[in-house]
Amino acid sequence: MTPTAPTPLLAVDDLSVEFGASRVIENLSFSVSAGQTVAIVGESGSGKSVTSLSIMRLADMLGANYPTGRILFQTSGGEIDLLKLDQKKMRSIRGKEISMIFQEPMTSLNPVFTIGDQVAEILKLHEGKSNSAALAEAKRLLDMVRLPDAAELLTRYPHQLSGGMRQRVMIAMALACRPRLLIADEPTTALDVTIQAQILNILRDLQKELGAAVIFITHDMGVVAEMADDVVVMWKGKAVEKGKALDIFEKPTNAYTRTLLAAVP
Ligand code: ADP
Ligand code: MG
Repeated sequence: MTPTAPTPLLAVDDLSVEFGASRVIENLSFSVSAGQTVAIVGESGSGKSVTSLSIMRLADMLGANYPTGRILFQTSGGEIDLLKLDQKKMRSIRGKEISMIFQEPMTSLNPVFTIGDQVAEILKLHEGKSNSAALAEAKRLLDMVRLPDAAELLTRYPHQLSGGMRQRVMIAMALACRPRLLIADEPTTALDVTIQAQILNILRDLQKELGAAVIFITHDMGVVAEMADDVVVMWKGKAVEKGKALDIFEKPTNAYTRTLLAAVP
């Protein structure tokens, strides 16, 4: 008997997205399973962020024409097509079952609230925790992303933290509700190289612990080698190459993939 492949946690199927008359994602398909990391790699403007925003159902809110195709996601309550959900239902999934970290954490943290209040807010919103229980859990989450002096950090404001510390807070927030899927959109691009390595290590360890699926977006093939099981190479909104990271590093079939690989030191 041949074993059947497990249903992927997320399957993007023939996704196309347009802004006005310009088609920025064209017939894109890929999938990711629990515990796996798929890297989406490609140069600036190739459609990586629009892909992640489409999964989060934020692209239509930013003015994209309604995306076509399917985005099948296995929730705790069964399979749904994210493109068919209304925004109200999507809000109960966003930040809970699917969460995202962005390149520049300062834009996602609110400058006027303490770190503790912002992490606690997610737990109050999605898990109905009391303020004191949420703050206790927030401290545990800051410890989990290896931030020193977590108790004191709870009372700090975003501008009092370094970029690397803010990005760890964002990871803590993204993982607060133990999401099934984490989308990381160039999470280390704005950071120094040594800090980048720390953040990648933290993400890898936590993924192992949580068993989440990860979509890791980057323009850096060096990072792909560190992080990914599977790779999707995007160029002008299309997947020009897809497969196992090991195979693509060994024998890329696409000329553009070869130029990306040539840039790895
Ligand atoms: P990447 O993340 O790979 O750098 P993006 O996904 O951000 O690329 O962008 C893909 C394409 O979509 C680009 O041509 C960009 O100009 C266009 N685009 C992205 N966001 C918008 C928007 N809000 N309005 C119009 N065009 C957009
Ligand atoms: Mg981007």
